[in-house]
Amino acid sequence: MLVLVINCGSSSLKFQLIDAKRRVRRAGGVIERIGAVSSIATIEVSGEKKQRRSLTAGDHAEAMKYVLDLLLNGSNPVIGDVNEISAVGHRVVHGGETLTESVLIDSNVLEAISDAFDLAPLHNPANLKGIEAARRALPDVPHVAVFDTAFHQTLPPHAYLYALPIRLYRRHKIRRYGFHGTSHYYVSRRLYQISNVDKTSSRVITCHLGNGASMAAILNGRSIDTSMGLTPLAGLVMGTRSGDIDPSIVFDLVEKEELSLSEVHALLNRHSGLLGLSGYASDMRDVLTEAAAGDMRCREAIDVYCYRVKAYLGYYIAVLNGCDAIVFAAGIGEHSPEIRAQICSGLENLGIRLDDAANREAIGKEMRISARDSTVQVWTIPTDEELVIAIDAMKIAQSAGAS
Ligand code: ADP
Repeated sequence: MLVLVINCGSSSLKFQLIDAKRRVRRAGGVIERIGAVSSIATIEVSGEKKQRRSLTAGDHAEAMKYVLDLLLNGSNPVIGDVNEISAVGHRVVHGGETLTESVLIDSNVLEAISDAFDLAPLHNPANLKGIEAARRALPDVPHVAVFDTAFHQTLPPHAYLYALPIRLYRRHKIRRYGFHGTSHYYVSRRLYQISNVDKTSSRVITCHLGNGASMAAILNGRSIDTSMGLTPLAGLVMGTRSGDIDPSIVFDLVEKEELSLSEVHALLNRHSGLLGLSGYASDMRDVLTEAAAGDMRCREAIDVYCYRVKAYLGYYIAVLNGCDAIVFAAGIGEHSPEIRAQICSGLENLGIRLDDAANREAIGKEMRISARDSTVQVWTIPTDEELVIAIDAMKIAQSAGAS
C-alpha cells in the first residue's frame, strides 16, 4: 500500500512515497523556497542519484502538483497512475489537547488544527496549507494527520503544568506539550524490538539530537516527561534555538537591547543555540571542525550543548527512578561519537559506561554502544518519523475502507 507522506513548512514541502506494508521508501524529496521567484526541488527516487532542479512554485498547491507530476512523469516514473497512492499521511506539529492520536482528516480535525494556530504559529498554518493542497490534488484518498505532540499526551499534570496562575492553563491551555513525539515513539519501539528492554516494565530515555533537539522520559512505553514545552523552543541547546533560559532574560533583552517582542522571538529561535554561542555555525559538523582546529568559542558551544543533555539525563533518571536504556537518535545523536562520548562521560556512578570502539563504529546504524559492565544500555537508533506516519496513515485508511 503506497502512502504519500507530506511535511510542510512555511516555504517548503517535504515528501516521501512509502510502501507502508513492506516498509520500503520509493521516492522522497523536498521543494524549498516556495513562493520565491525560483524554488528548488531536491528529489531522490530509489535506485537513482539525488537530483536538484529549479522550478517555479508560487504556493504549496503548485509544489504539490509538481511532486505528483514528478512521481507520474519523471525520467523514471515511480507510479503509473495517481490511484496507486492509497493514502496521504500529514505531519502536523501541534495537536493541542484535543488531538491526542493520529486521525482521519475531516472538517472537525481541520478546525482543531486551526484552533492550535496560536500554540504553534510557525508550524500549524504551514501544515494546514499542505493538507489543503494535498486534499485538492488527491481528493479521493483518505488523508491522515499525525501529530508531533501526540506521544507526549500521557504526561501527568505534575509534568505538564507550569507554575503559573492556573487560570492561564484553563483559559489558554498554556502547558508543556512536547514535540518530536513521532521520533521518540519510533526509537523507543525499535529499542523494545531489538534489545531485551521490555516495553511493559522499563525506564528509557530517548535523545533526539538533530537541528531541533529534545529528550523524553519513557516509563513502560509511555512518555512521562519531555524537554520541549509549550513550543519547541524549550529544553536542550539546539542549532539556532536557546532551549531553557531564565524567563527574565526576555525583559532584559527588551530593556537593555531595546528589542521588540518579535525581535526577541527571532533572537531566541533563530540566532541562539550553537549558532549564537559559537558565533560561527548552527551545524554541529561545522562547530566540531572549528573546535578541533582550536576555536575556543566553538569548543565552549559544544561544552554547553553536552552539559545540557547530561543534566537532562540526570533529571530523567530521577523522574524514572533509574534507567534501563538511553537511545541516541537524529543527525547528531546518530552520527557523532564525539558528542555521545562527551555527554556520557563522568556518568559511571549512574551505571552509564560506553564501549569506545562500539561508539566509534555506530554511525547511522542501530547498535548498542554501552560497555558490557554498563548497567544502563546505551543505543544508537536511526529515527524514521516518515515511516511512523506512513504506517499510521495506512492503518487508519484501511479501517476507513481504503484498499
Ligand atoms: P533535522 O532536525 O533538521 O531533521 P537532522 O536530524 O538531520 O536535523 O540533524 C541535523 C544535525 O545533525 C546538524 O547539526 C548536523 O550537523 C548534525 N550532523 C549530521 N551528521 C553529523 C556528523 N557526522 N557529526 C556531527 N553532527 C552531524
